[in-house]
Amino acid sequence: MKAKILVSACLMGFKVRYNGSDKPLVACALERWQREQRLVTHCPELAAGLVTPRLPAELAGGDGSAALEGEARIRESDGSDVTEAYLLAAWLALKTAQENGCRFALMTDGSPTCGSQKIYDGQFQGKTLPGEGVAAALLRQHGIEVFAEHQLPALIRRIEELDEEAA
Ligand code: SF4
Repeated sequence: MKAKILVSACLMGFKVRYNGSDKPLVACALERWQREQRLVTHCPELAAGLVTPRLPAELAGGDGSAALEGEARIRESDGSDVTEAYLLAAWLALKTAQENGCRFALMTDGSPTCGSQKIYDGQFQGKTLPGEGVAAALLRQHGIEVFAEHQLPALIRRIEELDEEAA
């Protein structure tokens, strides 16, 4: 069976980011995986009922793992605590991945939800820290391998390995 990949909707050209933009990732591999029906395109924040546009949100007091433990919060730029909505987003991403048999996720880095290598530091000053968002953290806790968009070559190698094993 072909390995499936949960992919952030904004990477696929959907204008679902907080400011109404997308973050398209153009790559032959993505086009091929789309044709092979391996991709499950999903925006966790929209699935959780957040709207576009929305205020930017950042983790404060820790990363996504800490937020899942109740030890960090997610706040919008006006100070509103939106942790519960973002936790719902994480669980909906996991549900979507599991229901579709996704073994991998390719997600937009820097997001308090989809980030997997870095997050913003909670000060809304454009400064990042190493860390992961809530959905990336939850997916990893359930055995799903999460890659940021700049790690696409590594994901391609993982998919090729699995395809060779299955051949
Ligand atoms: Fe993109 Fe993820 Fe943010 Fe949705 S939640 S806009 S998919 S980074």
